[in-house]
Amino acid sequence: MVRRFGGVDESLRPCALSGMDATEEHYARLLGLESPWKVTRVKLSVEKMRVDIFIEYGELTGLCPECGEACRIYDHSPGRTWRHLATMQFGTYLHCEPPRAECGQHGIKTMRLPWAGKHSRFTQLFEAFAIKVVLASRSLKDAGDLLGLGWHPLHSIMKRAVDRGLERRGNDQIAWIGMDEKSFRKGHDYISLLNDLEEVRVLDVVEGREGDTADKLILKSLDEEQREMVCGAAIDMSAPFTKAIRGHLPNADIVHDKFHVAKHLNEAVDKTRRKEHRKLLKQKDDRLKGTKYAWLKGMEHLGDEALEQVESLAKAELGVAKAWYIKELFRHFWTRRDAVFVRSFFERWHQKAFETGLPEIRKVARMLKKHLENLLTYFDCYITNAASEGLNSKIQAIKANARGFRNFENYRVSILFFCGKLELSP
Ligand SMILES: [Zn+2]
Repeated sequence: MVRRFGGVDESLRPCALSGMDATEEHYARLLGLESPWKVTRVKLSVEKMRVDIFIEYGELTGLCPECGEACRIYDHSPGRTWRHLATMQFGTYLHCEPPRAECGQHGIKTMRLPWAGKHSRFTQLFEAFAIKVVLASRSLKDAGDLLGLGWHPLHSIMKRAVDRGLERRGNDQIAWIGMDEKSFRKGHDYISLLNDLEEVRVLDVVEGREGDTADKLILKSLDEEQREMVCGAAIDMSAPFTKAIRGHLPNADIVHDKFHVAKHLNEAVDKTRRKEHRKLLKQKDDRLKGTKYAWLKGMEHLGDEALEQVESLAKAELGVAKAWYIKELFRHFWTRRDAVFVRSFFERWHQKAFETGLPEIRKVARMLKKHLENLLTYFDCYITNAASEGLNSKIQAIKANARGFRNFENYRVSILFFCGKLELSP
């Protein structure tokens, strides 16, 4: 039976504690140690504000950590120390020479310890507490300061928590996924993410965005059964994910959703504005100064003043106003229900977009036309990338908090720790 470490178990038999005095017995109970584990000594140092607890295994047989078979104790590994939760603000440390069992099948193996994971220098209770502190802190630095831990030990706790969480994550059905790319370091480094749109969580992250990155990401995040059950994937039109989705997710519709489309249209409006602004400035005309954000908003989000400004610029037949109108018009695409009607709406919109004569708008219109079939899939499953958008801003905050990550693996651990909705506790 696996006992939860740290719980005070009333059923703890008195004989388990035999040979210990009151202090040792008290700590053995606090640590939830069962015979033949026993506390042999408790050393209290008031000036160092520190409690050292020494633990021994008092039996000649033990269990193989691989198969659980009872076998003889071969010897003991060199002494190790684990940091535990503080006792009344006294730093508390456990010491033990872990016993090694000799299994007929698996050879000589260090036995499992009831208070700590395999490679950890902290007890499980300490790790559980540290995880809560990290989740509640504004930054890793704040958490480290509170716990008296440097970046490396703190990160090792987070990494073990994520490994545990990933191992525990079942293979439940994940019907709707989103795939996205994100810049990682300055320059051309990217990461690709696979998100569960329903549960609003990141399933996994891999480095890069080209070549077989998307294949790796899908295979890493979903097992074969799960891959068969994915119904839809929301991705950007320009993302190189289509081939991987077609290859590995046989039942998934690809949806170029409204968030990704809006991003392209907004970019086109902004590029049009910048070009026009430069041109007008040469003629000493600064009408477009300070208007950047008004054009990126939807009509319903404009204040009276901004709306008037947009209207007067539209009357003046400025390109950016035409571009804005085309962008706003496209929002009606998503409110249609009937497939025939959506197609005819798109044709009219496409024609209007071309009539603006604006190269940036024409470019997006061409792109949308090319991917029209995967825009129309929206009306079969109504998924959008809204969940991924929320996760993206969380990831942005993680990156800013850590002042950029030098190493991809550390970045991945942090993303999964904060955005994976994993069961992190030991
Ligand atoms: Zn074994």
